[in-house]
Formats: sequence, C-alpha cells, structure tokens
Amino acid sequence: MSSIARIGTKLTAAEPGWFAETDVIVIGSGVAGLTAAIQARISGYKVILVTKAQVDDGSTRWAQGGIAAALDPNDSPDEHWRDTIVAGAGLCDSAAARVLVVEGPNAIRRLISRGANFDKTSTGAIALTREGGHHRDRIAHAGGDATGAEISRALVDAIANDPNIQLIENALVLDLLQDETGAAQGVTLHVMGQGMHDGVGAVLAPAVILATGGIGQIFSQSTNPKVATGDGIALALRAGATLADLEFIQFHPTVLFLGSEAKGQQPLISEAVRGEGAFLVDDEGKRFMQGVHPQADLAPRDIVSIAIMKKMIERNLSHVWLDARKLGDEWQARFPTIFNVLLGFGIDPRTDLIPVAPAQHYHSGGIRTDLYGRTSIPGLFACGEVACTGVHGANRLASNSLLEGLVFAERIGAFLALGLPERKPYVTSKGNEVLLSNDSRSKIQNTMTRNVGVLRSATSTQAAIDELAPLNVSNSGLQPNTKNWETSNLHTVATAIALAASTREETRGSHWREDFPNADNSWLKRVLINSDPTGNLKVAFEPVPQVPDTKEVL
Ligand SMILES: Cc1cc2nc3c(=O)[nH]c(=O)nc-3n(C[C@H](O)[C@H](O)[C@H](O)COP(=O)(O)OP(=O)(O)OC[C@H]3O[C@@H](n4cnc5c(N)ncnc54)[C@H](O)[C@@H]3O)c2cc1C
Repeated sequence: MSSIARIGTKLTAAEPGWFAETDVIVIGSGVAGLTAAIQARISGYKVILVTKAQVDDGSTRWAQGGIAAALDPNDSPDEHWRDTIVAGAGLCDSAAARVLVVEGPNAIRRLISRGANFDKTSTGAIALTREGGHHRDRIAHAGGDATGAEISRALVDAIANDPNIQLIENALVLDLLQDETGAAQGVTLHVMGQGMHDGVGAVLAPAVILATGGIGQIFSQSTNPKVATGDGIALALRAGATLADLEFIQFHPTVLFLGSEAKGQQPLISEAVRGEGAFLVDDEGKRFMQGVHPQADLAPRDIVSIAIMKKMIERNLSHVWLDARKLGDEWQARFPTIFNVLLGFGIDPRTDLIPVAPAQHYHSGGIRTDLYGRTSIPGLFACGEVACTGVHGANRLASNSLLEGLVFAERIGAFLALGLPERKPYVTSKGNEVLLSNDSRSKIQNTMTRNVGVLRSATSTQAAIDELAPLNVSNSGLQPNTKNWETSNLHTVATAIALAASTREETRGSHWREDFPNADNSWLKRVLINSDPTGNLKVAFEPVPQVPDTKEVL
C-alpha cells in the first residue's frame, strides 16, 4: 500500500535557556541574508543576523559564472524578462520576473557602491559575458570566475562594524515561534560557544526573514556546500507556510565527474566556459547538442542536462565530456578557480577533455512569497534560494539567482520601512516532535538520487515517498545535535519534494517525467504544498496567468 507523505511539526529540542530581542531577525548570511540585513538596518531597525556556520559558508561564495542584468546600453530589461520567461517554460510569475529585470541593474550598481568589484573591459565598462538561455551578453563577473566570493566579501565587509547589525555565527535556527494568531514572533536556535548565547535559546522579533539557501544535500551529489540542508523550507513547512514549485530542481549539466561513488559537494564547470566556446562531446568525440536546440551547447540547462542523460543512457556512459581546449592560455585569466580545481584532479583543460555529468545545483521552488517577500505566515519573510517568488518558473535562467537574492532582499527591507508587524507573546506548542538520526542521511540521499533525480516517474516518486515514510520518527533516546536536526530537515524537505514531483504528471522545465514525456497545458499551474497541524502534507494548485506571446509584449 502507498504511504502518505507526512512530516513532524516540531524538532525535538530543549526549551530555550536564553532569550534575546530585536526588531528583525535574518537567518542566513548569503547574498540574500546580508542584503536583507543591510536594507532592514537602512529602514531603521535593529537586526540580529544568525548563520549556522561561518559567515561566508553558503552557496553565494561558490557562485562562479556571474550575475545577470541588462547593464549594456544595447540590452534592455524587456529582453532579459523575455529570456527569463522563456526559460521558465510557462510557469514564471510574470510580475515577479519584471521586478527582477527592472530593479536588477540598479541593485547591482548599489552592490558596487557597497564595495563589490566586477571585472572591467579595457574601456572601463563592466565586462559582460553570455550564458545558456540569454540572447545578450549580460552576465557581470568578478575575479574571472569568483563572482560569488567577491559579492560575499563586499557584503560581509559592509555589515562589519555596524552596531545595529549583530552577527551570530554557529547558530542553527530550529523552529519558528508563533503567537496565538499564527504570526511569526521569532525563532528557536542552537548556538555553539558564543558566550552568553550558548545552547538552545530564542530570539524574539516580529519580523523573521528566512534566507537559508538551497537543498542540495538531499541528493548524493550536488554543487551546493554542506550547509545546504533545506532548513528554512523545513521550518516554514512545519510552521504551516505554503511552499510552491518544489518539483523544479535544476541539475547542472556540467559538474565534474569524480566517479559514481563520489558524495557531497562536487566541483562545477561553469556554463560561462561554454559561453566562451567550449562544447559537449560523447565517447566518440562527436558533438551532440547541435540540432537538439537552436542555441546548441548554450541551450537552457534543463535541455542540456536531459540531452546528456539521454546520451549517457543511449551509449551506456557514466558521463560525457566537455571540450574546452580551444580556450588555451585564456584558461588561467578567465577561469582561474576552475582551472586550478581541474589541475588539482590531474586534468589540464588546455589539452584534456573534462569528464562531466549532471548533478543537483539549484532549487527553483521554495517558500511561496509575494513581491515583498511575504510568506503565507504574517511576519515571516523569505528571500534568495529558499523563496519561491515565481521568477524562475519551471527552470531558472542562468545567473538570475544571485540577482533574485539581491533584488527581493532589498524589497523586504524596504517594505519593513512602512512599519514592523505587531510584537506579541509567542505561544508554546507541543507539536508532533521529530528527530531523525544522522544515520538516515545517506538513505535519504540515495532514495532521492535514485527516484527524484533528472529522470522521474509515478513509480519512482511513490517509491521515494514509501522509502522516506518509515524514517519519520522521533527517536526519544537520540541526542539532539546539529547533524540530527539537519537530517530531520533533509527528510522533511525530501518528502515534500517527492510529493510535488509525483503530483505533476507532465514534463516541463527541469521536471522530466518518463511516464509523461510531454508538456501538457492543463498543468500550467503551480503545485502548492503545505502541512496540516498533525503533519500530513496537502497539495493545492495556484493558477499561473499566461503572458501573451513574448514577442508581442516587447
Ligand atoms: C557552485 C555554485 C555555483 C553557482 N553559480 C552561480 C552563478 O554564477 N550565478 C548565480 O546567479 N547563481 C549561482 N549559483 C546559485 C547561487 O549561488 C545561489 O542560489 C545563491 O548564492 C543563494 O544565495 P542565498 O543567500 O539564498 O543562500 P546561501 O548563499 O546559500 O546562504 C544561505 C545561508 O543560510 C545559512 N543557513 C542555512 N540554514 C540555516 C539555519 N538552520 N540556521 C542558520 N543559518 C542557516 C547558511 O549557513 C548560509 O549562510 C551557484 C551555486 C553554486 C552552488
């Protein structure tokens, strides 16, 4: 018999032993969290910024290719909007995409005014390159392929020494505190070794901003760092928030293949390498993207990933190859980070082909928000990869995610300038407690990789739900600790994603169903997931208004 998708509604943890109070608490210190903190402080608030490891430990630091915006005088937000909508395969929120592209260029200029240094041309203009799905050169980059590291450095410097932003590192946020109306009033968290904030405590705040990044660690191989365990999504779902587009997970087509048994974070070979002329080949050295899509090797990522998977199945390969030899001596100057990583694995990309295969990279879905980052829970906001503003639809356009984090984080901070939500006491809820042993982590990862990866079907997604269901227990003898809390979150997020993937009976964007190989216009709607108070997951739908033919709108 098929299992029901079910989660716990509260993490097992000690009652708070210490309390702190602030106006706004921001959770996560990537591009979204740091920007939200700065903007909330500009709006006049005291901010506590908590992050579960070191301040620069999220995905932001790893971003290579760059950040997209219509910065070239020959480009326009309209054209950027059109490429975004096309990549999103019918499910973009058109208004959110328009906010992204219209506000993007100035958000990048503000980032520059905060100290970020982007690469320049010989005339002093920002150097722009092209990535898959873009019809213009509009990707700004820094340090060649170290864009995220530079953005992170500039924003971390910008919050340092600001007395109204208190940074707490090694602080794992556990659950949302809610008042009797359900509105957010702070969070519980576990802090390791920070003097007066040590052990489980509570930060009380009427505005809670989740900026906890991605979910990569629910799969065996991902480009995401180890902190990407979906904590923000799990917290929001337990608290009753609505999630959307969870089934749309981007598998990056060109992740360095380190063997079928490799686990955890895997090195990415940026799409910008293909933007500079590299191309994919099979085991006979034949190019296979030409004829698949008019943009060939620079087609949107889902198209490239699926073409690679088909080629791997057709020729019984564990990976394909990227031929980037023509970049020659440009390698060191243009992609110094990737070049050194490859040399470290004994691959000289000037002379050798690079083995690559798709791996989990980005989550387009997340906590459903409006244009001001508001979730369905009053006082709870979300921005960056953890949020689903709808800008990505069924597939994210390359380099739109750093931009989304920047633009929508700024909008939350600016929205709060209108006033803080009401401060009220929180109510203690018993909830349906859950704590999974870290021993279950690789089982969750194997289940998701096998059943909810690039290729999915009704059988595989139901198998994932069935295999995950028995793990959902509160093991009373288990010691609450970071690994066990994270594993509990991985399980919650995996269960919700498996349910969303089993619900969407079509192939669209980055969601490829073997049993429904075509897009079906009756599915031009968002799959929403939330939890009832006992932890049973429920599915609902949100219509997605279709924009007219994008050519006519321009
Ligand atoms: C290898 C790689 C390359 C990429 N390249 C690009 C690119 O070129 N262009 C682009 O636009 N995008 C790129 N992306 C995607 C992009 O980097 C991310 O989507 C973006 O940085 C996410 O930013 P964020 O602020 O939402 O989250 P993150 O930067 O991931 O930050 C999340 C933060 O939340 C903290 N956190 C998580 N859970 C908790 C918790 N329970 N308690 C407290 N803190 C918590 C983490 O420690 C971290 O500080 C890339 C991603 C990767 C992995």
